[in-house]
Formats: sequence, structure tokens, C-alpha cells
Amino acid sequence: MAQVQGVSWPRSGHHLLIEQLKKHYHLQHSDEPLPPIQAAFCRIGPFSYCEHFRHCRRIPCPENVTIQKCHDHRTSELEHWISRPDVKHVVQWRHPVSSIVSLWEWHKGRGLHTAAWSKWVILQSRAWCRFMMKWVYQNAHHQTVLMSYEDQVRRPAHCLARVLSLIDPAQTVQVDKLIETNFRPKNYDEYDLEPIIMCTRYVRDVFNMGEMPDEKP
Ligand SMILES: [Zn+2]
Repeated sequence: MAQVQGVSWPRSGHHLLIEQLKKHYHLQHSDEPLPPIQAAFCRIGPFSYCEHFRHCRRIPCPENVTIQKCHDHRTSELEHWISRPDVKHVVQWRHPVSSIVSLWEWHKGRGLHTAAWSKWVILQSRAWCRFMMKWVYQNAHHQTVLMSYEDQVRRPAHCLARVLSLIDPAQTVQVDKLIETNFRPKNYDEYDLEPIIMCTRYVRDVFNMGEMPDEKP
């Protein structure tokens, strides 16, 4: 099996994908209970998974896993690893507004204060554009599956089959059972919309230019 680097923008369906992969291999290879969804490391038959930051904090994982999760934190070890021709990638992203709001809700439950909302949205908008420029629009690596969260929610079996083909090209992949997702549309009523409007304008301007602007604090 290939070693795949799962590079994802936060809140873009990475855990949903891993849950689907675990279920897929579990059906074929295991009578044991399914490993917990949030496990930072697991093996199921020929499939193995590492969540970089909560497992080994090394890229690649020393356990030689099938797929490793990381967000792109621009570390030198990731830069070295990702440029190798034998490394494959699954790149996941999501619409900037819904992913940034989802990430805000995740952080807010862990202490981020409401007063930080406006500045935080601007910083995340820049980070989202950097991620998209590098991994989606300027990614020339030919062994990459590009996958948006929106497509993953709309066509989960199709997206899972694309990733399985990358992991194991020799295998004839049949994903005939639609895998349920728990997608719920975001409700923006409680938010100050001005930063969200700024986010969409910023993203539009960056992609009209085709490159990141100079970043001033
Ligand atoms: Zn690891």
C-alpha cells in the first residue's frame, strides 16, 4: 500500500474520511470492535493511520502508516517529505466561510473569547488562502486526490473510492453502500457578519490576483 499524506485545512472532513476508511477496512479484515473515531493511531488489517500531532509528531510516521494526518504548518520536515515523488497526497479543503466559522466554534469551546472574532477571521482568511494557493491551485504533484468537503458530503462513496484508489491502485474498489454523514448546514444568525463579508472579499481579491499579497500585521 502507498504511504499517503493527508493534508487538510481544518474542519474539512478529514475525520469523516478516516471514519469511512476505518469502516471500509474493518468490514473486510476485522471481527474486533471498530477503533474509536478519535484514536490518534490505529491498525485494521493492512490499513493504518496516524494523526501526526497527537501520535508521533514526526513526518513521516515511524510506524510506516497508510495515511497520516497533518495540517500544513510549514515545517521543514513536511516540506522535505511532500516533495518526494513516492509520496501521495489527499488534500482536503472546505468553503472559507463555513470552515472558518466551524473552526471558530471549535476554538471558542476551548477558551477563545468572542472579542477576538473579527481579527481572528482575518488571520484565518489569510491562512485559508495560503493553504489553497499551495495545495490546490499550485499543487503540481501528480499523485494527489483533491477533495472538497462539499463534494465529500454530497458524494461520500465516490470520494471514498477515489482515496482508496490512491491508497491501493491494485485493488478493484467497490463502494456500493452509501456511508452516512452527519452534515448540518451552518446557522450564521448569531455572528457579526462584517468579518465574514471581509473574509469573502479578501478571498476574492487574492484569487483574482492569483498570488498572496504582502502580509502586514
Ligand atoms: Zn505517527
